Amino acid sequence: MTGKKFEYAPAPESRAIVDLKPSYGLFINGEFVDPADGRAFKTISPATEEVLAEVSEAGKADVDRAVQAARKAYDRVWSKMPARERGKYLYRIARILQERARELAVLESLDNGKPIRESRDVDIPLVAAWFFYYAGWADKLDHAGFGPSPRPLGVAGQVIPWNFPLLMLSWKIAPALAAGNTIVLKPAETTPLTALLFAEICQQAGLPPGVVNIVTGAGETGRALVEHPDVDKVAFTGSTEVGKMIARSTAGSDKKVTLELGGKAANIVFDDAPVDQAVEGIVNGIFFNQGHVCCAGSRLLVQESVYDEVLASLKRRLGTLRVGDPLDKNTDIGAINSAEQLARIRELSAVGEAEGAERWAPPCDLPDKGFWFAPTLFTGVSQAHRIAREEIFGPVLSVLTFRTPQEAVEKANNTPYGLSAGVWTDKGSRILWMAGQLRAGVVWANTFNRFDPASPFGGYKESGYGREGGRHGLEAYLDV
Ligand code: NAD
Repeated sequence: MTGKKFEYAPAPESRAIVDLKPSYGLFINGEFVDPADGRAFKTISPATEEVLAEVSEAGKADVDRAVQAARKAYDRVWSKMPARERGKYLYRIARILQERARELAVLESLDNGKPIRESRDVDIPLVAAWFFYYAGWADKLDHAGFGPSPRPLGVAGQVIPWNFPLLMLSWKIAPALAAGNTIVLKPAETTPLTALLFAEICQQAGLPPGVVNIVTGAGETGRALVEHPDVDKVAFTGSTEVGKMIARSTAGSDKKVTLELGGKAANIVFDDAPVDQAVEGIVNGIFFNQGHVCCAGSRLLVQESVYDEVLASLKRRLGTLRVGDPLDKNTDIGAINSAEQLARIRELSAVGEAEGAERWAPPCDLPDKGFWFAPTLFTGVSQAHRIAREEIFGPVLSVLTFRTPQEAVEKANNTPYGLSAGVWTDKGSRILWMAGQLRAGVVWANTFNRFDPASPFGGYKESGYGREGGRHGLEAYLDV
């Protein structure tokens, strides 16, 4: 049974608020500059395939120039500045982020393909919250539990993915600046535009030149940054595959490294859970941001006695999801970020079918242009299936069942990852027991995908090491 989709009039958010330039330079030492060899690439809207802008591709020489600018700013300005002055800059950036929130949300949805409802109500408010939170820490590092007068590390080289472009930037930049480091950050090649707008915000805030530098480019640019000998700290969020390469290339160096990698989270529904609430949590867990979420609840574990009820309710709810124009305020599911990611989602879904799982998606009209994938679920999934083991990073849910809490724990932990998990039950004692058993950095109870700057986030096993957020997130940027 599918849910009834009411006809809504379109409610498009205007893109007039965004001032797109035809081309962008690299942000080095407080200004936009051309790359040494003049190379550039295009960034497109994944919803329409329209070219949005041309962006510079930083080579080794450009990365070196950015690292030198960061070093100079660290030695001469940022590490000498009283901590409360550093904090003022962070507050100023946070306030400008709030003032320009609509512009940032529209640009994020244009470049990434995520629904405006999410960029407006989730991403950008969290970005500002992250800066406000760490602004508060800047002059209180002595009281953060790392001993008296903890020292910053120096120059941080930061590489981030495309799924939450500005939010991942804030997770990296806010704690690093609060702790007194300077930064060279590389955004993902498919979503560089909000990082470049953030560079303008640094100018607007009067941030001293060289404290934040943004170099755009693809994997080679990222590699040049993390391997640069004058980088003291490497912070990476992205795939486990690239994370392993970075761990190898930085091994034996003095660099401090944190890695936030992939996930394959279990979302576990017990028979005493409120079904309607759990279904909303399942939908939020895997269809939020098109499932391009490292901590997505991509494996649904349902207790056998409520399986039929939960599945029927879930299918009904999926039938009401609106897929389409990311700038339409009615849209629930936007565009897949790139042609490559769409190909991967298609490939793994085809493997799911070939291995014998049953595929289901609600009837869904997808636009002709752009990259789209209907919300999909697989039933009859076994632990051995690739769709139960590998990260699909798309709107695809694998459904498994269990009978006892112990079996749920064993299945949930049977993964090379360990980033997050969800538990849906009426019993507080069961929540606490499960939280103790699950090998995951974050365990949500009767909710999912909830973030707060005060709460640490990070993984076990192949999900990486180090924590971002909260007091713990400062440790990654301090010599403790
Ligand atoms: P990716 O690893 O391909 O790319 C991430 C970033 O690394 C990009 O900026 C890319 O240009 C850069 N890069 C690529 N090769 C590099 C190299 N050799 N050296 C240095 N940098 C390099 O990952 P992706 O496909 O963009 O992102 C999706 C992945 O990110 C998923 O696996 C997801 O789970 C993970 N992710 C994790 C978290 C977390 O907090 N754990 C958050 C968001 C995304």
